This record gives sequence, structure tokens and C-alpha cells, in this order.
Amino acid sequence: MISKIISEELVNKVEKAIDVADKIAIVVHVGPDGDAMGASLAMWHYLMTKGKESTIVVPTAFPNFLNWMPGTEKVIVYENNKEEADLIFAVADLIFALDFNTANRMANMTEAVLRSPADIILVDHHLHPEAFAKVLISYPELSSTSELIFRLICRMGDFSKINLACAECIYTGMMTDTGGFTYNSNQQEIYIIIAELIKLGVNKDEIYRKVFNTYSADRLRLMGFCLSKKMKIYPEYRAALITITQKELDQYNFVNGDAEGFVNIPLSIEGVDFSVFMREDTDKIKISLRSQGTFPTNKVSSDLFNGGGHLNAAGGESYVTLKETIKKFEDALPTYKVFLEEKA
Ligand code: 5GP
Ligand code: MN
Repeated sequence: MISKIISEELVNKVEKAIDVADKIAIVVHVGPDGDAMGASLAMWHYLMTKGKESTIVVPTAFPNFLNWMPGTEKVIVYENNKEEADLIFAVADLIFALDFNTANRMANMTEAVLRSPADIILVDHHLHPEAFAKVLISYPELSSTSELIFRLICRMGDFSKINLACAECIYTGMMTDTGGFTYNSNQQEIYIIIAELIKLGVNKDEIYRKVFNTYSADRLRLMGFCLSKKMKIYPEYRAALITITQKELDQYNFVNGDAEGFVNIPLSIEGVDFSVFMREDTDKIKISLRSQGTFPTNKVSSDLFNGGGHLNAAGGESYVTLKETIKKFEDALPTYKVFLEEKA
């Protein structure tokens, strides 16, 4: 048995909302990751077993390594199908907003979603959710939204409606948001849930391979380049920084998702507890931050990079040049020294 963390009142609200809904949309954050796709597809499969049709709309494309997930072929990418998606939002009576805490994380589709007459149910695990939803199911202590979807379905008494496809999606989200259960993954109940998912037929080893072992040779070469030529260590601040320009990315035929996980690698260096990865994009610098221990990457990201996230994993953006962004980061490093844990 897992503990009942979602209140009866919230569970009843969701149950009722699904019962009376006719047109349901499911939305996630820009640059959908394994958890965003896992949570939304799991909800989509669940609703289907309840006889309810729904449509998943994502702001921008999800990475190729998630293509295998059951149901992805039905997902609508807003930036490629704006008209169709706008119509879906205009007629929806219920919208599930999954895996993000502020409306602007929907980027290009924020307005269309907020304009919708639909009631919004937010299911998420990020700190400080904004009040844009009618029903708020927010549990930042959980490591993934996909886990929360599992819990929500079970609390509605519908464990039996979790089919294999739904279970695979839940597992994928739980696995990716914990780096394959290497961080944020000490809660016992995670493993009780995994045991249930395996009972339903999930092949966890195969999912690991499909998600983490299907990269291109170009990606590996890019990784090698980043580590040997582009990584800077700041021993005094137990920090590491990797930066990459558009031109360099082009040399390695960069495609979306290729730099996924690079930010974690410097944490494997003894003496590094804080790692930052900056990637030059067409109109901005995309920044990923990771830490181990109590160092607050979300604070750094919201202070410096218009972003946020979790204690150990955050992201943000910068609208000045890469050079200026690096300078901003280096100038600010001393400020965050107080957050580093004392090492014996
Ligand atoms: P990633 O580095 O994988 O892009 O993001 C790590 C985590 O940081 C995400 O799960 C999300 O919580 C958060 N995050 C990433 N980018 C942004 C951003 O631009 N704004 C905010 N508020 N959070 C972000
Ligand atoms: Mn997540």
C-alpha cells in the first residue's frame, strides 16, 4: 500500500471534473521531457480506458528518444499545428496542465490555453505553483509528475484501469526525472510503485535502453568535445560550467535532445557539486543547472536566468550573448558559496 498523499477533496474534484467533461485537452511545458510526456500520455491512456477521448497538445516538439512511447503519434505540437490546437482549446471543457508550475512555461501556447473556457486542473511537482488553475494538485516532494498521476489514478480507485501502455508512460516519467533513479530517488514508495508497474508488464530494462541508449554517434562526439574542450571547473566554488555555441553545435549536426544529460556529467568529478550547461539557441541561451546535496540550483536560476525548477535540477534562459551570460555566472559565483555544504 502506498500512502494517500492526495486529499479526498482533491480526488473527488478531479473525478467529478472527468465525469462531466466532454472535450478534454492535456498540456505540458515547452521542451517536453520524459516526465511531461510520461504524465500526459499516462493520463491520455487512462482517460481512454474510462471511455473519455482527450488530446495532448505540447508547445514544442518532444525529443526523438521518446518517439517509442505509446500514443506519441497522436500528440499535437502547437508550433506546427497552431490553428488546430487553438480550436481544441477553444472548445475544451477540461484541461489537464501537467508538469509545470507557472502558465508562462507553456510559452507560445500560454495565451490560447488561458483564453479557453475550460476548467484547468494542474498536476505538478514544482515548487511555488502559480494560481492559474481551478484545481491545484501540487506535491513538490515527489520526484515526478508521472508518479503523481499514478497516485491520482489509484486514489480514484482506478488502479485496474492502468493498462500496460499507461504503466510504461508512468515508468518513463519516473525514470527520466530521477536520472534513472540516481537522484531525487530515495523515497521508498517509488519502488513500491515500480513493483506495481512491473507487475503490469513494464520491462524496465528495455525502457532504459530505449530512452538512454539510442543516441547518435554525433551526440557522443559532441559530448566528447564538450568535456575535453568546453568544460571549465571552478574548484573554489565546487562548480563546473560547459558552454556551447550554435556554430559548434552545427559541426556536430545537433538535433533537439542531443545535449540532454550533458549537465549531469561534471557532477561525477570529485569536488564538483554544482554544474551548469549553457547552449546557444537562435534567440536565447538555454541554461540547465544541476547540483548534489543542498545547493539550490532553482535559486541560482531564478536569480540569474529568468528560470526555476527544483533544488537539484533547474533551468532558465538568458537573452544576452553567451559571453555576457558566462560573465554573469562567473561574477555571481561568490554569492552562492554560502550554499555549498561543508566538506570534511
Ligand atoms: P532542464 O535542465 O532539463 O531543461 O530542466 C530541469 C528542470 O528545470 C525542469 O524539470 C524544470 O523544472 C526546470 N526548468 C527548465 N527550464 C526552465 C525555465 O525556463 N523556467 C523555469 N521556471 N523552470 C525551468
Ligand atoms: Mn517533472
